[in-house]
Amino acid sequence: MATTDIEVLLNTVARHAGEYRRSPRTMHSAPRQSVADCLAGLGGPLPETGTDPAAVIDQLIKASQDGLVMQTSPRFFGWVMGSSHPAGVAADALSGTWGQMGALAPAVEAAEQTAQGWLLELLDLPRECSIGFVTGATIANFTALAAARGEVLRRVGWEADEQGLFGAPPITVIIGAEAHITVFMGLQYLGLGHERVIKVKPDGQGRMDPAAFAEAINKVEGPVIVILQAGHINSGAFDDFETIIPLARQKGAWVHVDGAFGLWARAPAPLKYLTKGIEEADSWATDGHKWLQVPYDCGFTIVRHELAHRRAMTIAASYLPGHQAGERLGFNYAPELSRAARGNAVWAVIKALGRKGVAEMVQRHCRVARQMAQRLSEEPGITILNDVVLNQVAVRFGADQPLQIADELTKQTISQIQGDGICFAGGAKWFGREIMRISVTSMETNEEDGRASAEAMIAAWRKTKRDSRSS
Ligand SMILES: *Cc1c(COP(=O)(O)O)cnc(C)c1O
Repeated sequence: MATTDIEVLLNTVARHAGEYRRSPRTMHSAPRQSVADCLAGLGGPLPETGTDPAAVIDQLIKASQDGLVMQTSPRFFGWVMGSSHPAGVAADALSGTWGQMGALAPAVEAAEQTAQGWLLELLDLPRECSIGFVTGATIANFTALAAARGEVLRRVGWEADEQGLFGAPPITVIIGAEAHITVFMGLQYLGLGHERVIKVKPDGQGRMDPAAFAEAINKVEGPVIVILQAGHINSGAFDDFETIIPLARQKGAWVHVDGAFGLWARAPAPLKYLTKGIEEADSWATDGHKWLQVPYDCGFTIVRHELAHRRAMTIAASYLPGHQAGERLGFNYAPELSRAARGNAVWAVIKALGRKGVAEMVQRHCRVARQMAQRLSEEPGITILNDVVLNQVAVRFGADQPLQIADELTKQTISQIQGDGICFAGGAKWFGREIMRISVTSMETNEEDGRASAEAMIAAWRKTKRDSRSS
């Protein structure tokens, strides 16, 4: 391949990027093609010989463009997903161009170190924390819990990172019953077991019941890890950190907070009250690819105890630079050695948005969520199930009907909305009921998007109601 070819290829990508991002509001909201459809363009036997890279990239664009999830659209409210800020996309292209991995290159380390400082300021967490740049909140939770596991056992004289868990004093894990599924996955990976935990009963918003937590922790002796949540996936609710963390402290617990998107409530001053007391925890996990709009995959493990963080994630190797006092090397804080140079995209997105840009975006999204919830709740037959404190709205259609009928109406309305193609929202199950979940996390979503989308949802509901009566 000639050295100029990369320029041709990136020009093709740039041209496509311009077209793809030009009118995001008119994008069809659900993928038009299935996996089987896309296989028509992407399948086939292993190629025996090579193909001109320009033709390869052309084919990838043509075969994929109708099978994409429209998460860069401001009218996309499915799951909790960011929309890949162009500055991050371009920075990723540079990381690839330079062929860098997230360790060894001085420039990449410098971007990570700077981004680490900026993140701690944006999230207003203790400035002495170390941050591991990982693939997302799943691995951020895992990494923080690995540090927690090592540290709580070290305090009782057991070196788990060296000796493993066989014969170790038992660790008690206390977690909210409504914690995100991926936190239980982290416990599973770590040999702590996803069922070998004390699950604290939730209130109606999915928060941990503080009285039930107090009762649970009072019975515990020995090493303990407490896992809290900032931003429940359906309701956006926050655990009561101010009450719970001091109780956990009395028992010497390591307190971890899963704040995949909710931690970003710390960026705008008016929303900070939601996270009051959270800064007293020992570790936090959050995503870059959700609210911060960094392209996939990007998450952050933030740990107050740098040494515990590093000990959980590294063994010194003779051929790698050793750790000098005061020196940071990014691979010591994440599970992988070789990984993407994520710091570049994080640096670029934060630089492009600035403190004010991040705060304005988060606040705007919460405002749009409230506005949509308000409009939807005015329509007969539509019920909002959560207190809309953040960016999440849990919607139920036909809630005045018997449970199963409302479940069915909710599912039908969701597919009507997706078929209409004005906006996109997905379904979920919460406390045994089908719901539609609105997550406002797409970078450019504004009040007009909220208004038009709420009207589209109402129209879809009215149609679903009419169709169900006539059938
Ligand atoms: C999305 C999410 C996760 C998992 O994060 P990934 O980035 O998908 O790995 C964990 N917890 C909560 C609350 C989430 O919303």
